[in-house]
Amino acid sequence: MSIVTLEQVEAQIAHRFALLRFEPEIELLFRQDYVAERNRLIGIWAVIGLFIYDLVYFGDRAMIPDVLTEVTALRLLVFTPAVIACALVVRRWPSSRLYDALSVLVAVLGVSLPMAAAVGSQSSYLLIYQNYNAAAFLFFVIALRPLFPAMLAGLVLMCVSHLSAAYLTGAFDAVTFGGIVTFYLMLSIFLAAAAYFLERTDRRNFLNQLRAALLYRQLEVNSERDELTGLLNRRSLARIGRESWSAEAETPVVSAILLDIDHFKRFNDLYGHIDGDACIRTVSQHICATVGKANCVFRFGGEEILVLLPGQTSLQALATAEKIRRAVEGLAIPHGKSDHGVVTASLGVASAMPAQMAIEKLLQRADEALYEAKHRGRNTVVIAEEPQIAA
Ligand code: GH3
Ligand code: MG
Ligand code: MG
Repeated sequence: MSIVTLEQVEAQIAHRFALLRFEPEIELLFRQDYVAERNRLIGIWAVIGLFIYDLVYFGDRAMIPDVLTEVTALRLLVFTPAVIACALVVRRWPSSRLYDALSVLVAVLGVSLPMAAAVGSQSSYLLIYQNYNAAAFLFFVIALRPLFPAMLAGLVLMCVSHLSAAYLTGAFDAVTFGGIVTFYLMLSIFLAAAAYFLERTDRRNFLNQLRAALLYRQLEVNSERDELTGLLNRRSLARIGRESWSAEAETPVVSAILLDIDHFKRFNDLYGHIDGDACIRTVSQHICATVGKANCVFRFGGEEILVLLPGQTSLQALATAEKIRRAVEGLAIPHGKSDHGVVTASLGVASAMPAQMAIEKLLQRADEALYEAKHRGRNTVVIAEEPQIAA
């Protein structure tokens, strides 16, 4: 799903797909889903199909007893192993093309083998006997359900092999043979039309499911991201904080850096809120770049940004905070009412062992350190006293 966007799927829905083909990326996903679904059912259909097919032994015995040995051998020694082999091959090498090709092969074999035996029969019941193949046509379309081009090819090949064999029996006069031809043509046209509409419905359902899944993912992302900066928001902090804390065995220590832009009220007053927004965005992007990953940087408040660093000790976090401070100053965003002439930030650092301290307490200590940084004249980093970590 990763390579397809919601826009692509919506365009595909609007564009329709009368030719039963999607854009390449969506078609690829559709075929993966198609193969997975067919593979789930292939075992059960092989068992049901073979059971019914081999049960026709009783029909063979009643209607074409003179070639019973040949037809039984074809059913049990050729068709049955062929179906089992095809089912195993498709399960082993899942591919839509292979599935389609083997479905057609099985259907054509299923139709032509009994008819090949019937060609040598002198039975007077051949008219009834050849009707059995209608069941094979139905099985092909309803149970095997290859994609439409293979379906069409299969129906044509089944018709050709069935009608050629029926002709070769020499058992039917012209009118009867014409009736058989008409019957199988009508059956094939009806089945082809049904297969077309069924596949279109399948494809529409697939697109709708894909769209729903992508919408859901977008909703999830939106609900966890801050609109202005693209950073994670407070809601995701609750989730990620919980995860870091519950994985305490792997993360014996978690550090937090809380950053607040200095004299930002004055910045807004001087340059306006639009520039203020742009400033928050730029600072956020540079914090992500400095930390090296975006999944631990949160917009904590207005112009306050939190960085959570699972696995980093207080000294490592202190070094990271100092890098961030220098990066913000290095942006050199003009600030006419700050002490340095450019936008700067103050940072508070704290660390905790999840087993010994709640995340709320960690954030409170980072906030106290930040307050101290403001108190010391801003554009500075202060680390909270940490008896546990120091010990
Ligand atoms: P200090 O150095 O003590 O932090 O001074 P300060 O002026 O930055 O004080 P404080 O952090 O309390 O002020 C935050 C200001 O940030 C208040 C508000 O106008 C502004 N602010 C908060 N959110 C946004 C925002 O999304 N966009 C803009 N443009 N301004 C914001
Ligand atoms: Mg603030
Ligand atoms: Mg501030």
